[in-house]
Amino acid sequence: MIEVSHLTRRFGAHLAVDDVSFSMEAGAVCGLLGPNGAGKTTVMRMLTGYLPATRGSVRVEGFDVLRQSMEVRRRIGYLPENVPLYPEHRVEEMLRFQGRLHGLSRGEIKRRSGEVLEQVGLTERRRSTVGALSRGLRQRAGLAVALLPRPKVLVLDEPTSGLDPIQRIEVRKLVEQLASERTVLLSSHILAEVEAVCPRVVILNRGRVAAQGSLGELEGQLGGERFVRFEAVVGDSEAAQSQLSALPGVERVELGEKVGIHQGFRLFGPGDLREDVGALAMMRQWAVRELSYQAPSLERIFASIALGESVELAPGDAARGQETAGAEPTAAGSGDETPGATLQLEVNAPDAPDGAAGAADTKPSTRTLNPFENFGGGA
Ligand code: ATP
Repeated sequence: MIEVSHLTRRFGAHLAVDDVSFSMEAGAVCGLLGPNGAGKTTVMRMLTGYLPATRGSVRVEGFDVLRQSMEVRRRIGYLPENVPLYPEHRVEEMLRFQGRLHGLSRGEIKRRSGEVLEQVGLTERRRSTVGALSRGLRQRAGLAVALLPRPKVLVLDEPTSGLDPIQRIEVRKLVEQLASERTVLLSSHILAEVEAVCPRVVILNRGRVAAQGSLGELEGQLGGERFVRFEAVVGDSEAAQSQLSALPGVERVELGEKVGIHQGFRLFGPGDLREDVGALAMMRQWAVRELSYQAPSLERIFASIALGESVELAPGDAARGQETAGAEPTAAGSGDETPGATLQLEVNAPDAPDGAAGAADTKPSTRTLNPFENFGGGA
């Protein structure tokens, strides 16, 4: 269990982390997201006891990071962004060295080394020097070091940074495996990575928590302006609009652009309306060109937070669960979205320069971001 409370860190006049609070249950997996310079590494360094906080506290498994730092370090496996490993060490020497630093006995070091090398898939490379490992394998070596003392909590700072796509997938799979038995906090500035592994996210921007919650919660809060995009040859567009409006669950139908013979529509209402629209199209013998579910992706929301601007969605930009007519509709977006809801984000003034002396005094403003507020034009 991790409890971060009002964590704050200044570097001179620069407020790098500003009143950050979040908590994680034992066994939870949480992504710490944010653009470069958001404060992720600084939070992680404070959380692992490698950097004192200017203000605030962290408790890991009930122990205070400042007052009981040894207890905390014993329980945390930390993979820093740049793993400090000696390139001339062989992999097994590296683990022996690290095991001694952790105060493990010789027998324990031997046993644990075998286990962690197996876990991270480096058994075959145990006699290679660290310097000879590829970047992806070095990340694995770093993970082996982090896992050595059997930590209950893993803190991984950008574990896939600098890796090629194949290495990323491999490291991501490994993290997924590790996460099945531990509390894991993982940082990244790549949302898709976090989405793949972490059910919960804390989004940092300019040192502050911009949003936090489960992916479902964040998406749910953004669900108000989800809609079904429908394009077909319908003959009389206005008659088709009223027929679509009469479908169960449809709250509003907007006429979109007409491109050639195809008329576009946007249908709003809770849940996923595609099945009924598809059935109506079949009944009316409308030739369908598109029937898809549109929802804002967290990627766009995240990008907007990074830029400190409201979200603008280009048509078709964020189609989640998008499918064409005839395909089996998925449950994407169906169920319990909250229509009309928007995501409340605390966003620091976007023009506060990084490191500006006044940054500490810049009061964040709470803004309501509606991901579709600037959505204009036809479907
Ligand atoms: P990245 O994704 O680029 O690693 P990050 O979110 O991890 O970024 P941090 O490394 O925590 O961000 O840095 C947050 C801010 O604090 C940045 O403006 C950075 O320049 C500043 N900072 C971090 N460490 C120090 C330090 N030791 N001295 C001065 N400023 C620092």
